[in-house]
Amino acid sequence: MSGTFVGMPAFPTAAREALADSQLRHNLAHATGTIRAKRARVVAEVEDWEELRLAGAAVKERALLDLDTQLVRLEETLTANGATVHWARDAAEANAIVASIAKAHAAQEVVKVKSMVTQEIGLNEALAEEGIAAWETDLAELIVQLGDDLPSHILVPAIHRNRAEIREIFRSRMAAAGRPAPADLTDEPAVLAAAAREHLREKFLRAKVGISGANFAVAETGTLVVVESEGNGRMCLTLPEVLVSVVGIEKVVSRWEDLDPLLRLLPRSSTGERMNPYTSTWSGITPGDGPQEVHVVLLDNGRTRALADEVGRQALRCIRCSACLNVCPVYERTGGHAYGSVYPGPIGAILNPLLKGVGHDDQVDSLPYASSLCGACFEVCPVRIDIPSVLVDLRAQVVDAHRGGVPKPEAAAMKGAAYVLGRSRRLSALERLTGLGMRFARRFGPTAWTGARDLPDAPGESFRAWWQRTNGGKDDA
Ligand code: SF4
Repeated sequence: MSGTFVGMPAFPTAAREALADSQLRHNLAHATGTIRAKRARVVAEVEDWEELRLAGAAVKERALLDLDTQLVRLEETLTANGATVHWARDAAEANAIVASIAKAHAAQEVVKVKSMVTQEIGLNEALAEEGIAAWETDLAELIVQLGDDLPSHILVPAIHRNRAEIREIFRSRMAAAGRPAPADLTDEPAVLAAAAREHLREKFLRAKVGISGANFAVAETGTLVVVESEGNGRMCLTLPEVLVSVVGIEKVVSRWEDLDPLLRLLPRSSTGERMNPYTSTWSGITPGDGPQEVHVVLLDNGRTRALADEVGRQALRCIRCSACLNVCPVYERTGGHAYGSVYPGPIGAILNPLLKGVGHDDQVDSLPYASSLCGACFEVCPVRIDIPSVLVDLRAQVVDAHRGGVPKPEAAAMKGAAYVLGRSRRLSALERLTGLGMRFARRFGPTAWTGARDLPDAPGESFRAWWQRTNGGKDDA
């Protein structure tokens, strides 16, 4: 009951379509502006915010540079705590593991905590093929799922929807998925939340299997951590008999105390709150309390590829706060769907190419160009990911991957420029032709280049002609 990003067009095409949707732009500008202001207010309260950012970045960097050791340690501590650890190289392996666990318990449905990584691997769709319904329990994810829609923001997946649209989705779609919306449903946020609560309650109480991701995994103690705002996550983590947590391998941190800077950085950067409302931790099995069978699927799915990229590996520090989305001028205008992935915005523009590799998919190769390189994303990132530098490096990788064969117009233009600039006589000849070229361009109307840019008038005299005529400016009195 939800869409997939498979087959999405390259960013320029998708962005053009999104830009034509004025309701979408209005919803996005309102929502990102509100979250941006909240974040700025609570971040300004912290005197040592920059030190905190450095500490958060250092914690993640240390774990990534020692990932092989930390992961083995995590497996040992989780196992000692009674959990079963599985390793998955890619989405297909992870989905097969989760499906086999659900089938072993004859589960026809599972309840889910909001999780980016299970969206990344298409878990809901894979379970549906096995006849297992996966129910999203986060309010925004529920809206996306019921609306047969796609998430467009990391933190607020239904950011592109307004209250009236959500009411209509609940009214027309809830009944097909379980308890229907009340007849007197309004678009008041409290009324919509109450309808979702009623709808989800019976699913929480019935489900035998819960599925989660994890924000962090502590190697030292074998503890997984989920932070959320609604409490639905805690229901999924405690009520079912079986819990399966799919965890990207970059989520590991070495020690319990490493959580300190990260749990202070995350809520202020994401929801603009001083503290996170629900922080749940679990370490394997506790007899008589919570799930009595716990599985942890440690997922690669391109992360070791990203780790091997010396410039790009810093993207694996991401704690999915979404601050970079909320300040990005490109995201604010196009929204998340244009990025064609569950990871939209500036982090998506680097993470997708790093995870999937460049050079074999036009959609992925278009993402490093979905930025004005203004640098706002780096300034707000709580773990100091230098997204603009990674974008520039990935652009170079995309160009390198497409060398050979028929050159693109940009590559041909660069070759031409190199030829002209290689000899001063060629440059002089070109300068004489420039005025002619401008008149030609004006006469034959806007091209793809000039349609979006001003074409300035060429000066009547070139710099070199002026230099010769005036003896370098000395005779120009
Ligand atoms: S890149 Fe930084 S700002 Fe963006 S989501 Fe990740 S942690 Fe947050």
